[in-house]
Amino acid sequence: MSGRKDFLTTTLRELIGGKSAASVEKAFGITTAGGLVNHYPRRYLDRGNLTPFDKVEVGVPVTILATIKGVDSRRMQQKRGFILVVSVSDGVESMELTFFNQKWRERELKVGRSGLFAGTVSEFRGVRTLTHPQYSLFTDTGNGVLEEIDAITEFTGEIIPVYPSSQSLASWQIQAAIDIVLTSADQLTDPLPTELVTKHGFMTKLQSLQAIHQPKNHEEIGRATERIKYEEAFVLLALMRQRKSNAKSALAHARGGSDSALTPEFDLSLPFDLTQGQIAVGEEIAADLAQGVPMTRLLQGDVGSGKTIVSIRAMLTVIESGGQIALLAPTEVLAVQHCESLRRFLKGVTSRPIHVELLTGAMSVPNRRRILLDTQSGDVDVLIGTHALLEDNVQFFDLGLIVIDEQHRFGVEQRATMLTKGKDELRPHLLVMTATPIPRTVALTVFGDLDVSTLVESPSLRAEIQTFLVPTSGEPRLVERVWERMAEEVAAGNRVFVVCPSISPSETDPKSDKSSGREPLASVEETYDALTARYPQISFEKLHGALDSNAKREAMRRFEGIAEPKVDVLIATTVIEVGVDIPAATMIIVLNAERFGISQLHQLRGRIGRGSKPGVCILVHASTQSAASTHRLEAVRDSRDGFALSQKDLEIRGEGDVLGQDQSGALSSLRLLKVIEDLDFIDKVRHEIDELFTSKLWGQVMETIDIFEIQRAEYLEKS
Ligand code: ADP
Ligand code: MG
Repeated sequence: MSGRKDFLTTTLRELIGGKSAASVEKAFGITTAGGLVNHYPRRYLDRGNLTPFDKVEVGVPVTILATIKGVDSRRMQQKRGFILVVSVSDGVESMELTFFNQKWRERELKVGRSGLFAGTVSEFRGVRTLTHPQYSLFTDTGNGVLEEIDAITEFTGEIIPVYPSSQSLASWQIQAAIDIVLTSADQLTDPLPTELVTKHGFMTKLQSLQAIHQPKNHEEIGRATERIKYEEAFVLLALMRQRKSNAKSALAHARGGSDSALTPEFDLSLPFDLTQGQIAVGEEIAADLAQGVPMTRLLQGDVGSGKTIVSIRAMLTVIESGGQIALLAPTEVLAVQHCESLRRFLKGVTSRPIHVELLTGAMSVPNRRRILLDTQSGDVDVLIGTHALLEDNVQFFDLGLIVIDEQHRFGVEQRATMLTKGKDELRPHLLVMTATPIPRTVALTVFGDLDVSTLVESPSLRAEIQTFLVPTSGEPRLVERVWERMAEEVAAGNRVFVVCPSISPSETDPKSDKSSGREPLASVEETYDALTARYPQISFEKLHGALDSNAKREAMRRFEGIAEPKVDVLIATTVIEVGVDIPAATMIIVLNAERFGISQLHQLRGRIGRGSKPGVCILVHASTQSAASTHRLEAVRDSRDGFALSQKDLEIRGEGDVLGQDQSGALSSLRLLKVIEDLDFIDKVRHEIDELFTSKLWGQVMETIDIFEIQRAEYLEKS
């Protein structure tokens, strides 16, 4: 960090006063000049064009530009007091403004006047209404000069910015605060080097902020937007580039080499051949491990693409050279499964015993102490666990490789914590795996500090899976048929998952609004009770997050068929969503499927068809559902391609929701840039950064960007 201070880090308190600063902070969590000037208008109004009311939605805070057409003030009949109803028009439609006991407003709200009105729209007897809106009126002074009264701002421009506003802060109040900030800002540090500004013919930073907040014409807005997007991409990618280069400048123990024997032995012991993809990715990883710099690699591949095998091969390379492995899983169920499948797979390696241990929160103190000691002494080769592995008392003798499964469940800091557990200042190698694949180009932006490997084929998913949607409304026989199919599947010797969105029946759907009536969600408890009563010959078991780890573990082992009494049907919450691998499971029934996202449903479906037998996935969904959830269900029914589905998901939900804010923290700094829409643009910027990185300008670029990084960190803490 450079310690230099930039104008944009000035507190709003200093610039606009404590009271206004407090309301800005309350509304948006923004406390600095930089935060405020990055709060860009959502759209612009032309003074000559009133807001078409057909775009105005009920329940949403809006700012409209309208003209007063009528004013009616009368004494209320039921209660004491006055009601003032002002009707305003956009030239085509009308809306009403309602004020209670504010008769004095009649003096300024006169027919024929225009202005901005802000509030939350409600509907009253079929008429859209703003109750007690804030407003700012324009006055025609007669000589064509427009002034406003009762407002902080002067609307001098022809184009009026409309900000994402809040209940307590109207758009023009935000504008007023920004105007003050921009007036005080004479010199702003520009994260873009002058060379690039000149090359692209960009405005200066201050000019771009003035143009986006106080535009004189639409062309200016376009130019400002372009520059700001460029700047966002530039700062993001430059930071990633630097982070990556920092990672590469750390030292690591080089692992593996040509005389490696464990991996070939393992390969031979497998009951199948590796896919081309597994071999290719394996080579990428081996090449990384053989370097004296730490690997930081993301392995993305659809559910069932065989990431586990790939990671085991990497582990063996490290173990062979004396290193240890930490394997982090997001849930205990998954950690247990990893432990069991690793032990099973590694039985094939006999030339050297491989010591795999599981560390869970639930184990007895002596057991835990023994495992911690064995890990510290180097006796344990692979230590598997959940977040518990991050704790200070987990010490390794020589941690060579960290594998993080389903990495989207872990944050960047957690990654960073693990990286400190290496030996003698050396950093362990890092392999993170995700089953939520995103297009490679997008991954390069979101995970720009990681190298990305992708497994495309899914060898284990060759078995056919049919997906059906079953509505709970309509034919009651359809749902009946679902349970009969379940019973048939069990009779044929197969296993079935039933997934419910909740554990116990008391939970109602908080998302369904009152008008549609609260439909109870299917729960594990109720479904279990109903099915056991109805099918006494079938053995059911429950699995959910509220069970203690032993109960969870037992349920899984019995369902897998490695403990008695065996379980035919596992009724579970989404604890089974990630990674659980039961080859004998051929059917999954998801209840209230409309409640789940695309990737969640795809992951759930990935629990079946992992053996050689074809599978059936039944998505039972409620009758009342939104168009979006219908799209989701249909998308899942129509495709089994995880990449295609994540693309679809991005289209339906928007990138912020899908990629998540915690993936790398990177997305939260973006305002105008869209990592999907602006892919080509981002690619160009990346190219320029690569050139710059090798030039002597880079040091200066990073020094400037540091200032922005500090702001961003401050912003992230707030949000
Ligand atoms: P992922 O973690 O990517 O979802 P897994 O590694 O759990 O997938 O593999 C899914 C299933 O496919 C496992 O049962 C595994 O044994 C099997 N499998 C892995 N690689 C192959 C392969 N090359 N050919 C056939 N089956 C494979
Ligand atoms: Mg897996």
